[in-house]
Amino acid sequence: MNELIARLLGHERVRAARHHIERTDEVTLARQAALSAVPAPTGAETQRAARTAELFREVGLRDVLIDEVGNVRGWFRGEEGRGTGNGPAPVVLAAHLDTVFGPDVQVGVERRGERLEGPGISDNARGLAALIAVAEALVRTRVATARPILFAATVGEEGSGDLRGAKYLFDGKKDVGARHAVPLPFVPAAFIALDGAGLERIVHRALGSRRYHVTFRGPGGHSWAAFGVANPANAVGRAAALLADLPVAAEPRTTCAVVRLGGGTGLNSIPQEAWLDLDLRSEDPKALAQLDVTVRAALDRAADDENRRRTTGTPRLRLEVQLVGDRPSGTTPRTHPLVQVALAANRALGRDAELAAASTDANVAIALGVPAIALGAGGRAGDAHLTTEWYENSDGPLGVLRALLVTAAMAEVL
Ligand SMILES: [Zn+2]
Repeated sequence: MNELIARLLGHERVRAARHHIERTDEVTLARQAALSAVPAPTGAETQRAARTAELFREVGLRDVLIDEVGNVRGWFRGEEGRGTGNGPAPVVLAAHLDTVFGPDVQVGVERRGERLEGPGISDNARGLAALIAVAEALVRTRVATARPILFAATVGEEGSGDLRGAKYLFDGKKDVGARHAVPLPFVPAAFIALDGAGLERIVHRALGSRRYHVTFRGPGGHSWAAFGVANPANAVGRAAALLADLPVAAEPRTTCAVVRLGGGTGLNSIPQEAWLDLDLRSEDPKALAQLDVTVRAALDRAADDENRRRTTGTPRLRLEVQLVGDRPSGTTPRTHPLVQVALAANRALGRDAELAAASTDANVAIALGVPAIALGAGGRAGDAHLTTEWYENSDGPLGVLRALLVTAAMAEVL
């Protein structure tokens, strides 16, 4: 792969694209700040999507549209609605639109010396700006590739979004009225997500998660007069204790966390309802499925234990387990050309890389067997998911350049 990257760096058009990226580094930074200042809470990305679609058109992508779930899509050397028919499968370069910040958070950006400060300035305004910079460089310098490239700015990557934009790209399943746009009518040759800052990590393992909202319901009653009925709050306590003692694998790393709990209405009432939220994670799909079974058994046992000691003749607790998040896991093998190309690009740019695990839009592709990775778009950042988030452009255009090289390699520059 080192030779492939060396060949790309020597290729006339790719060199021109590289110079374009270097020359427009300040433009990319300005776009990053401008996009960051457009609010994009998960589930309310419309405004930022509209601005991104304008930018896709400005830089010369074709068939730009906003699909039914709100993803922005635009083509380089390809077109919307193209079937799997004749040509080679496209490469997808993606970045998520949404931020973890709700509608009340001020998302203005301030420049303090070398630092840009603003919620979402790195995650993922940096990824979006890099996505646009790669598109612009390819279009302006007319790099010829065997494979078309789909540029996609996705909705719903963060938290409760549950990767809905990326999921829609691949399976088209969403309870929204069908209009003109369709899900991808092809299986991509590769999927590359640009997410946040940094150059040192190549995410090839998809950290999967399953999130549950668990509710215990009972008859409730006066805390003195009805004492002895099955108590949902007790069941929550029993469940938390059982889950805390579950053995979990260290390798592949697997976790089971109680992350929220609640219930009850007053100081002198046995609650009719109490609940807890669970976040289960693993890099390994089998381990996650196994954990899922164990956790459900523990929840059943908590309900049973509480029911067993209730006053005879009173109603049993009912348990309801609701899946509220489902991010698939999996791995793009380190030997896969996509991972090797990314490692070689890092070497060519003189920067060490480590292979890592994370939860990103690439999860969806990896779980479907599509080779996928996630890359930072360069620079330093801190306070991710906090309103004090910051970004420093310490690598200049290197992150964008790495994205260009990996994309160009996978799209097979002619
Ligand atoms: Zn992100």
